[in-house]
Amino acid sequence: MNIGIVGLGLIGGSIALDLRSRGFNIVGVSSRQQTCDRAIARGVVNDASIHLSLMATADLVFICTPLSAIEPIVQKLIPHLSPDAIVTDVGSVKTPIVDAVSALWPNFVGGHPMAGTAESGIEAAVRDLFVGRPYVVTPTAQTPAQSVEKVEEIARLLGASVYRCGPQEHDRAVAWISHLPIMASATLVAACDREGDRDIVNLAQNLASSGFRDTSRVGGGNPELGVMVAKYNREQLLRSLSIYRDSLDELMGDIQAEDWQALEQKLKLTQQAREHYNL
Ligand code: NAP
Repeated sequence: MNIGIVGLGLIGGSIALDLRSRGFNIVGVSSRQQTCDRAIARGVVNDASIHLSLMATADLVFICTPLSAIEPIVQKLIPHLSPDAIVTDVGSVKTPIVDAVSALWPNFVGGHPMAGTAESGIEAAVRDLFVGRPYVVTPTAQTPAQSVEKVEEIARLLGASVYRCGPQEHDRAVAWISHLPIMASATLVAACDREGDRDIVNLAQNLASSGFRDTSRVGGGNPELGVMVAKYNREQLLRSLSIYRDSLDELMGDIQAEDWQALEQKLKLTQQAREHYNL
């Protein structure tokens, strides 16, 4: 089976590395020639090009570019695809992508591997990035069942745990566990930086340890990804941010009122609630 990867960055390169090590022939397309050269040199792909015509032999094509490029790439890719080719993507938001791309190529299966690092680009690609992580597949009633199963089979080969849900359910759920945390974490760092006394800021920077590292990590990642998820999942992100702001106000209210019992009750509930997440 020939696998095509368009967008040889963190996610595309990592998928390519794992599938190549499992014996698949991997062809890659990326926007810059130097990325293609580097992908070949690193052994990420068997062949790479800046031309989408390389995808003509692919049975399954993963679109792994930034969200804004997915639909325009599929438009340009279609003349080169074999009629039976399955197209899938890895975009972090699903409803607008699934709506737009399924209309262009009905044999499209939306997907989202729930794994990443703070790095980007071909040098960031690593083996086993998806092992033990969720891989969500978001078919609609019209998506060909055999294609959904094929994408799920490949996701399992990456060592991921496969989940299936609708694109809208996906976007609502990831707003909570992925997109809201990016904004909460980013505003945490931004708030620290608003401390007026530079000596205190310098001291805080020196004293920062594991707690701050954990809570600031996702807010300090790729800014382009943060903007993309806000743009593409705007409604669900605003809904979760609004509920988050209410929760913050309630917590501030307890502290202002010195209601330590209410605060402890809230923190006990969050301690219990956290155990239900797949961490
Ligand atoms: P990335 O490391 O920046 O990789 C994307 C690559 O796509 C770039 O390195 C670029 O390669 C290439 N590219 C950009 N525009 C292109 C075009 N028009 N045609 C061909 N190649 C193009 O980003 P990423 O983190 O892998 O994210 C890729 C996708 O995965 C996004 O849709 C994102 O929502 C999703 N995702 C990200 C994460 C995460 O945590 N990072 C997790 C899950 C899913 P060149 O060097 O050739 O320009």
